[in-house]
Amino acid sequence: MTEVSESQLHIPDGINFDCTGCGNCCFEWPVPITRDDFARLGNYAADKELDSKKMFRVLNVDDAKLKVFSHSLEKRDDGLCAFLTDEKQCQLHNDFGAEAKPAMCRLFPYTFTQTPSGTYASVSFASTGVLYNSGRPLSDQRELLAQRFELFTRLFPTLSLDWSEAQLIDGQNISWQDYLAIEEPILERISKPTESRVEKTLFDQSQRFRKSVSGNVKLDNVAGLPTNPKIIDQVLVRNLLESYFPANAYESSSCDLDAQNFVKEFLAEPRRVMLTHGGAEYTFQDVVGVRLGQLPAESADLLRRFVYLRMFSKLYFGPGFNYLSAVAGVHHLAVLICLLRIKLKLELLRNKTVNPVDFDCLTTLAEDARVLERRLTVAFFSQETIATLEILLLSPQRVERLISLSA
Ligand code: SF4
Repeated sequence: MTEVSESQLHIPDGINFDCTGCGNCCFEWPVPITRDDFARLGNYAADKELDSKKMFRVLNVDDAKLKVFSHSLEKRDDGLCAFLTDEKQCQLHNDFGAEAKPAMCRLFPYTFTQTPSGTYASVSFASTGVLYNSGRPLSDQRELLAQRFELFTRLFPTLSLDWSEAQLIDGQNISWQDYLAIEEPILERISKPTESRVEKTLFDQSQRFRKSVSGNVKLDNVAGLPTNPKIIDQVLVRNLLESYFPANAYESSSCDLDAQNFVKEFLAEPRRVMLTHGGAEYTFQDVVGVRLGQLPAESADLLRRFVYLRMFSKLYFGPGFNYLSAVAGVHHLAVLICLLRIKLKLELLRNKTVNPVDFDCLTTLAEDARVLERRLTVAFFSQETIATLEILLLSPQRVERLISLSA
């Protein structure tokens, strides 16, 4: 494999982005600002005789990697940024141009993952433009991406990820070259629209990772437990749904599972696991009763792009996501799509509609994908959670059952 320089910027195929001006990213989400931003915006507030106490909050950041940020932007009572106009425009951008916005606003929604084979650029599904793939192809925005990457390195100079300990499964390390060789055909397969459901394609393709596991390792390693495996699946789904789709995604600042309670729950083998949605409770039988099949093209493509970008940017395993192994990470990615489909089924049940064709699937999926992206960004799992997920998600049988549950 050819050596690629550290500074090489990899850009995903078929991904577009331009700001749609919806104002959604200027809502609720706290925006940290640097000392330079604070000085500039403070002057602006003083010129306009605005009350700076209501506009900025002092940040006490313990994390040395985030020391560059001194304040955050306060939101108005309606949850919107004080600089957002009634026309959903940034006042700073309008008055002084895009470069006058706080550094984090200029960076959003671009993300950069540094690896031994270069830097992988991506975009966040928290952005409406990204959700709907609107705007110019990223491949035509190389210069802007290079500028944003330069900004990223200024903001996070010490944020380097150590991939040397990346694991294929818990206890088996994988070299970066071996990892790339396995990943390349999978990425190629999901970089374009597929006939079949993306989570199924991903799972089928992920056998390349499973086949590389050496020794006589049983991936379905809780098979000896007396608990019915389907009950474990259901407890897992319910806990993941509660963690990734909380009642108010903006209020909860961190995301973890209570692994001990979670294990206790499935060992107690509850007779029935219920899912709560929109104030009502549903059984897994109800969920199975709704058949989605292949979704309308735009919805299916949204899910495919979600998987493709997570995998392209390596934000699904190792230091890219909570130190899950590559096998557990790729299975987790397939399960995330199952969760989005189960959420869609619950919404159909709530609306008493059984035919997804008669329903605006795209809007529901897009809003859920936005929340999921935000939760994955702040997900910081305890060692117990990682160990529990690693064990449960390694099982190919479990992932197949969840794909079938969300069919
Ligand atoms: S400063 Fe401008 S771009 Fe940033 S959150 Fe406020 S309105 Fe949005």
